[in-house]
Amino acid sequence: MVQDKVALITGASRGIGRSIATALAAKGAKIVAVDIDLAATEEFVAELKAAGTEAVAVQGNVTNPDDVEQMVNVAKETFDRIDILVNNAGITRDGLLLRMKDEDWDAVLTVNLKGAFLCTRAVSKLMSKQRNGRIINIASVVGQMGNAGQANYCASKAGLIGMTKSNARELAKRNVTVNAVAPGFIATDMTDALPEKVREELAAQIPLERLGSADDIANAVLFLASENSGYITGQVIGVNGGMYM
Ligand code: NAP
Repeated sequence: MVQDKVALITGASRGIGRSIATALAAKGAKIVAVDIDLAATEEFVAELKAAGTEAVAVQGNVTNPDDVEQMVNVAKETFDRIDILVNNAGITRDGLLLRMKDEDWDAVLTVNLKGAFLCTRAVSKLMSKQRNGRIINIASVVGQMGNAGQANYCASKAGLIGMTKSNARELAKRNVTVNAVAPGFIATDMTDALPEKVREELAAQIPLERLGSADDIANAVLFLASENSGYITGQVIGVNGGMYM
């Protein structure tokens, strides 16, 4: 399915990004793991290599165009191509609208939306030449339904969904597909930071009555990254336990 494909994953050292990279590696993909935290990323890549995966760690901030160029260059120098891009790096800076600081708005929009734009622009050049590629954007259920206290985050993820559709239309003629996975509430460091009461209230809104796991997201990404999804582009796949339909 993804045997010998080269996959670049941003925010790969922990959480959902790490699960995605692990799932792709388990199916034979070669991994370019990008994260701000080089030590954590190198440790993760060492684990992948010990399990027999060809992998390389790159320190990179997705908001920095020089870092983005560097990550693409490392991928080209190491593996000669990029078949799969997963725009996963993301942050939250929650707060009610009336109290939200400009810098919290800017930080979230810059990492979650501009970061994905910069990575997509850089990688799609290569994919267009290859006449082959899969781009998968990690959005969020709250980009589809909104969430009090997350105007910045919801706007960034709704924007990412719009960009997914626009890029899908542009890149289709080059045989590059662009899709989004919109996770619901997934147990990671990001949601561990929420108070227990809030997490219980969230779980109560989910028909399947539990938070999702990072592996639930990785399974959807694996499908979209594979040969089996060749006729799917511009779509948003919700992996949310039925929270939004
Ligand atoms: P996480 O545990 O906080 O991991 C995010 C990763 O992204 C970290 O490794 C982080 O690196 C990295 N990162 C942050 N800013 C970056 C930047 N500017 N450049 C490169 N890497 C950067 O988050 P997660 O829960 O796994 O979330 C992954 C994605 O899923 C995000 O896009 C998030 O919005 C989305 N999502 C999560 C949930 C959920 O319930 N967890 C739900 C819906 C959507 P450092 O920490 O080392 O800086």
